[in-house]
Amino acid sequence: MQWLTQLAEVARRTGHPVTEVTGWKTRGHGPQPAVEGIVCHHSAGPSGGGDYPSLAVVRSGRPGLDGPLSQFGLGRSGRIYVIAAGRCWHNAPSTSGYHTNSNSIGIEAESDGRQPWPAIQLDAYRKLCAELCKEFGLSAARVKGHKEVNTAKPDPHSINMHDFRLQVARLIEGDDDVDVDAVWHDARIKMNKGEKDETAVSPAAFLQRIETEQDRIKAMLTQVLVRLDALDR
Ligand SMILES: [Zn+2]
Repeated sequence: MQWLTQLAEVARRTGHPVTEVTGWKTRGHGPQPAVEGIVCHHSAGPSGGGDYPSLAVVRSGRPGLDGPLSQFGLGRSGRIYVIAAGRCWHNAPSTSGYHTNSNSIGIEAESDGRQPWPAIQLDAYRKLCAELCKEFGLSAARVKGHKEVNTAKPDPHSINMHDFRLQVARLIEGDDDVDVDAVWHDARIKMNKGEKDETAVSPAAFLQRIETEQDRIKAMLTQVLVRLDALDR
């Protein structure tokens, strides 16, 4: 049992702006018993403007369901709202043993359920999931859409969760840490030798090689995630 008072710090590691909602460190239906999964939601809030008009509902609840409803809110601008450090009512009943209210963290992203997702909001969504996985020692396979762990739910709308997990997995593995300068330096040497050296590659051939490699890695990651998914059941 714990109050997850590190959540604001974890959110800041995404590089996206963070709002700590007053009182969040002691807000919850008691402390959080465990963290073994992450559940992605959309708030089904109003269609109009505003960054996070669902805040009051997610923090304080609605008739028939007391707040807080989830630990995090995610605004249209990519701003992360830290709402609660304790247990929240975001997924009951759960069809997954790793994604109950007592052992998972909920993220309620602002969306009316139809509007296209802003790219910056999706970027923050993936990065928040990746940072939470790193903080709690979870694989990307533990990131689920509400629609995957509760048969009655449609959220988050229009996000392919398999692709989403692949992207989260890449962030966890730190693909961003690839030394681009070194790779480019190597490629330029090969290209400059192109006129004399038959083993050198043209820019087009080099690009082709990278794309082939990318596809191979993507296929491999998909296979790994499919197996991880199977383990979770
Ligand atoms: Zn939901």
